[in-house]
Amino acid sequence: MADFLPALTGSFATSAAQNPTVAIMEAAYADAGLHCRYINCEVPADRLSDAVRGAIGMDWLGFNCSIPHKVAILEHLDDLAPSAAIIGAVNTVIITRDGDDVRLTGENTDGQGFVGSLREVRDPSGQHVVILGAGGAARAIAVENALAGARSVTIVNRTVDRGQALADLVETRTPAASRFLPWTPALHIPHGTDVVINATSIGFHPHESDMPDVDVTSLGPGMVVADVVANPPRTRFLAAAAAQGCETLDGLGMLVNQALTNARLWTGRDLSGSVMRSVLEDLFDA
Ligand code: NDP
Repeated sequence: MADFLPALTGSFATSAAQNPTVAIMEAAYADAGLHCRYINCEVPADRLSDAVRGAIGMDWLGFNCSIPHKVAILEHLDDLAPSAAIIGAVNTVIITRDGDDVRLTGENTDGQGFVGSLREVRDPSGQHVVILGAGGAARAIAVENALAGARSVTIVNRTVDRGQALADLVETRTPAASRFLPWTPALHIPHGTDVVINATSIGFHPHESDMPDVDVTSLGPGMVVADVVANPPRTRFLAAAAAQGCETLDGLGMLVNQALTNARLWTGRDLSGSVMRSVLEDLFDA
């Protein structure tokens, strides 16, 4: 007899329409022969509680939450993974049941996804890392690189208070040394930097011609230069870094590795990263 009842996962955010995660999750579930669905849901800020109750009521395995829920979700959780507690935000919730006891555990897989992607070309351990930006993505990436053994994490940000606060967080809550560097025009990347990460939204579609204000001649061979911007995958910043002889890492790798981690947390299965990546390449015309 056929089984018409899939296991459910999904995403709560607003606006949800441009989020491609549903496309990669469903393709990878199908590829793995998993009877699972990923439902992309438009959930405004004042309906998060209803959505969480719905997920519990419908026996979901878990869900992602994005803007504006990454901090608001904390009050609904029973447990928080250690790195999510440092970051102070959650993008993945795992729902587990033991009889009538339901527990919601929060993880932050944004930074883990980045580190998973970075590890494909460079182990962060012992590296000097420079991060442009201090928003949600930068925060997760800074903490996870520090917990993965980076020797130093330098935060560069337009808004001083936000940048300094992130540097202070990494310095006090992780083993890595951290400092804030003001974003002066044509920023010179410090000598000895191993990994440079654009964790700002600069260059995101439809502003493909923008790039972070960095002196590209301060980038060079031996450095890994990464971008969190996934659309387009080949940003102007990455093209400039490649022309300087750097190894480059696009934002698709972070998106894919994050989705792989989420699927592992929900289903216990390893899905195909190459299936996910090829879906994204088609979507973004890469
Ligand atoms: P936030 O709004 O939280 O942070 C944005 C950051 O970009 C801030 O540090 C902001 O600086 C900086 N910034 C924006 N515009 C400029 C500018 N013109 N000049 C200098 N700095 C600027 O956004 P998120 O951290 O959530 O997202 C950042 C990017 O990461 C987005 O493009 C998002 O799509 C991408 N992302 C990619 C993921 C992936 O899997 N590939 C996952 C998550 C996010 P300031 O503090 O001064 O305002």
